[in-house]
Amino acid sequence: MLRLKGLVKQYKTGDQALKGIDLDVPDGQVMALIGPSGAGKSTLIRCVNRLVEPTNGSVRLNDQELTTLRQGDLRTARRRMGMIFQEYALVERLTVMENVLSGRLGYTGFWRSYFRKFPQADIDEAFRLLERVGLDNMVDKRADELSGGQRQRVGICRALVQDPEVLLVDEPTASLDPKTSRQIMRLICELCEERKLSAIINIHDVLLAQMFAQRIVGLQLGEIVYDGPPGGLTPDVLTQIYGEEDWESTIEQVEEEDDEELIDGGHKATSDDRQTAELSRDRTAGMT
Ligand code: ADP
Repeated sequence: MLRLKGLVKQYKTGDQALKGIDLDVPDGQVMALIGPSGAGKSTLIRCVNRLVEPTNGSVRLNDQELTTLRQGDLRTARRRMGMIFQEYALVERLTVMENVLSGRLGYTGFWRSYFRKFPQADIDEAFRLLERVGLDNMVDKRADELSGGQRQRVGICRALVQDPEVLLVDEPTASLDPKTSRQIMRLICELCEERKLSAIINIHDVLLAQMFAQRIVGLQLGEIVYDGPPGGLTPDVLTQIYGEEDWESTIEQVEEEDDEELIDGGHKATSDDRQTAELSRDRTAGMT
């Protein structure tokens, strides 16, 4: 369980990006964090692994309080949190395999990592992951030869080879086309399910969040304004989070895409998903 309590972040500029966030993410739950630009999504996930230092409050990963850890212990704790970035954050001149193995650096001694000599078990696991994401024929390619979708798959493998307990995912699809975005979201969710991993996925695309996440948390100016199932995102709630827009048509689009996914037999083909889609339809119908 990842537990945030009274999490506050005030930047030196005076901007209060998080205004006392309370949030529990149980093991195995895939949660999407949505909200307009500037809502505090990126700050929130970065406060978890302390890429951004929280001003106040508590972040607990299972039994460990993370906000008070000193550098050495923080480095060890960060192994338990895999991060996936919008711009992939790969080392361009290194191969796919080397990029994936860099996820093991937190476990490898200084000299071994300096000479990039990784234990065979790490290399085997990296192969397995690359095979799982369909990149096993690209292990020796340089990162700069890959497409965006392939790069993000490498980013996913690098996060997973750490063997984390939670994934922190920051706008994983913002640089991808719509079809690849869906493939990447589906892959992340499937991998979380297979590995019983929880994830916080910061994503601005409501439709993708609704299609794939089990739970949606809506942020607005550093505060949680919605916390519930994807089907509960009614036009009213979406207006509260994002402001006025034609949310009826977005919801209709989600339902159409839902049906396509069910036909595809993709990640969404579960009774829960069908239920949430129906719930959303019912609520929307009740409002018109
Ligand atoms: P989001 O990810 O939802 O777009 P952010 O977490 O990036 O939101 O930003 C939340 C608020 O914090 C915004 O008002 C933003 O301007 C401010 N902010 C973010 N990063 C910094 C920073 N490094 N210094 C000062 N203010 C920042």
